[in-house]
Parts: sequence; C-alpha cells; structure tokens
Amino acid sequence: MNKVSDRLNNLSISETLAMTDKSRQLQAKGIDIINLSIGEPDFNTPDHIKQAAQKAIDDNFTHYTPVQGFADLRQAISNKFKNENNLDYAPDQIIVSTGAKQSLANVILCLANKDDDVLIPAPFWVSYSEIVKLAEAKSVIIKTNIEDKFKVTPQQIEEAITPKTKIFLFNSPSNPSGSLYSKEELKAIADVFAKHNDIFVISDEIYEHINFIGKHESIGQFENIKDQVIIVNGVSKSYAMTGWRIGYIGAPKWIAQACKKLQGQITSGASSISQKAACAALNGGLDTVYEMKEVFRKRRDLVFKLLSEIRGIKTFVPDGAFYFFPDISFFFGKSVDKITINNATDLCMYLLNNAHVATVTGSAFGDPNCIRLSYATSEDNIIEALKRIKTALDKLN
Ligand code: PMP
Ligand code: GLU
Repeated sequence: MNKVSDRLNNLSISETLAMTDKSRQLQAKGIDIINLSIGEPDFNTPDHIKQAAQKAIDDNFTHYTPVQGFADLRQAISNKFKNENNLDYAPDQIIVSTGAKQSLANVILCLANKDDDVLIPAPFWVSYSEIVKLAEAKSVIIKTNIEDKFKVTPQQIEEAITPKTKIFLFNSPSNPSGSLYSKEELKAIADVFAKHNDIFVISDEIYEHINFIGKHESIGQFENIKDQVIIVNGVSKSYAMTGWRIGYIGAPKWIAQACKKLQGQITSGASSISQKAACAALNGGLDTVYEMKEVFRKRRDLVFKLLSEIRGIKTFVPDGAFYFFPDISFFFGKSVDKITINNATDLCMYLLNNAHVATVTGSAFGDPNCIRLSYATSEDNIIEALKRIKTALDKLN
C-alpha cells in the first residue's frame, strides 16, 4: 500500500542526483562509467579547512548550534559580502543553513503563498521548480534561446509579470548553461523590479567564483531593489565542500527572521563542525578558489574543442560554472540497432548504456532539446568521455 501525500506524488525526483545514483549502481557492478552528471568539484576540501573541522571536534563544538548559525560564521559571511561583493548585510540579516538547497527552500517557503507565481528563466537548476511545487506556488517558466546564451531579457521578464507574481528566481553564473549576466544586464533586470516593489528577487550566486571573464556581479548591488533581493550562496562549489552542507542567505531582516523560524522547526542549526570549517574557508582567502578556477578554465576549453568535433552538437563557450548545456535535438528521430532517440532523456540513456557516460537530460532543467555535461572531472576522464560520446553519436542515423 502506498499512501504518500499528493504533495510528494507531484514532486519529481532530483534528476542530477538520480543520474549520479544510476551511475554509482552501474559502477558497483564493475561497469566503467564516466560520470559527467554530478555538479560537484572533484577536488578535495583544502587542508586548512579540514584542520579547522578537526579542531572544532577537539574543542567540543559538538552541541546544537544557534538556528541562524554561529556568530563568528555570520560575521565571516557579512565580511565576505562586503569584501567580495560590496554588499552590506549585517550578521542579523544572514541565516546559515544545511546547504544552499535548504537556503533556497527556506526562502521560497517563507515568501510564496499558495498559487503565487514564481518566474524562473529556463534552463534552470532542477530543484527550483520542485521547491516551488512544495510551496504550492506556481512556476512560470520564461524560455530563453541558445543564441542568447540562454539569458533572459528585461522585456521577457516584463511581459511575464502579472499581479500574481511574487518571486523572480535566477542564477548567475548559471547551472546548467554556464552563462553569466554582466553588470549592465543585471541593472536592466533590477530596473524592471524597481517598478514592481512587491516582487522579490532570489539570486542564487553559488557559482560566483567560477567566473572566467571577470569579477562576479551581484544583482544585490542595485540600491533601487535592495529591499527586494535575497542572495543565496554557500561554500559547496567555491571551496570544494559539497559534503559539508553549508549554505547561507543575505536578506532583509524580516526575511532572515522568517527563515530562522522555519528552519527552527525543520532542521535547527547547521552542523557545528561544518560551520567551523566554513568559517575557516571564508576567512582563509581565495587562493585555493583561484587555483581550482584555473583548472576548470582549462577543462572548459578542452570540452569545447572536443564537443566542436562532434557532428550535430550546438553549443557555445560558457563564461562560468562547470557545465556545458549543448542542444542535441539534431539526433531526435535518429536510430541505431533498434534504438531510436526521441528526446533528450532517450539520448542520455543511450549515452549511459552504450557509451557508459552519465549526463543529465535537459528536460529536468526545463529545456528538452539539451543535455547537461559537468566537467568537474579530470582531463583524462573528459578526453575519454568525449571520445565515447562522439563514437556513440556518430552511429546514429
Ligand atoms: N544552486 C545551484 C544552482 C546548484 O547547482 C546547487 C548545487 N547543489 C545548489 C544551489 C545547492 O548547493 P548546496 O546545497 O550544495 O549548497
Ligand atoms: N548542484 C549539483 C548539480 O546540479 C549537485 C546535485 C544537486 O544537488 O542537485 O548537479
């Protein structure tokens, strides 16, 4: 008997995690799968951060933590906002959570009423629309084009706004497209919301340090919408700390307090040890971050070169994050050995079963013509994976 709630029945599984699960299962059976599905740095957490965690255990930071996060960590985040982003968020405007995913869920659940509209440009990160469903709100998807590097225009946003719009939710640098918005583009978007001061802008900036063209620009810098903006960030991507589960927001105080209230009933404060590690990460300078970024840049160039050699793939050089989101619709309707590719999900399964390379279907990101490849893996893996993908795709006719 299955009696799960309608809420759960309506929820999709996280395709990024599901594909990673599938490839782990195949690997456990001895199949040599190359995993380009998960978006997580393949580096280990830097030593000085691990040492801070070890010290936290020795110093008996083993008890419940304040729901909003340790004071020293919130001060470090406040300093980070000022020094890296020139944003003013006092510690009481900051809430630490168990990952940026929880931070996003907190904010959406705290702001969205049943049937409110949440505007989301597609392609978007898989969990956005699902968290919106949990809040019983409605995702209103704004479609973008590969020709515009999948970036939404102020005009498209303006046209999508209705009296039901409560939130605009976006991500720069973007997962899955790797695109990022310039200061001018962000200003034009901010100007739209300055005219609608009852709409909130959630800016997910988790990839801020993986930016290959310059300094990160935050939409939080524009004074005309400052009271409407919530910045979501975390240490997972910048410091190779995905398993530590620390994310945070900077927000108007009333939103921070609402998130604290919600979190206090669901998970309480984030892990004491991880918070001490995150504090060391944020106070420890950006050297390791820049080193990792340079490795990602080289891999990005390599993936672009190899993808360009494959017939039927349409893509561009992404400016940030560690993903490619190529259009693979050229292969729809093509077949090999009784296998016909009808959509992006078929193509992903074909690549998994026949090339032993795990990717993620674009459908999960709101664009069914694409697939996502993560290049957060070694150059050797990238070269071998792209060779296998090319061989498999060349067989389709
Ligand atoms: N936002 C985006 C766009 C992401 O890719 C991720 C990756 N997991 C998250 C938020 C959540 O990050 P975490 O929960 O690991 O902090
Ligand atoms: N954000 C990563 C991804 O998109 C990690 C998996 C997840 O949390 O969904 O692959």
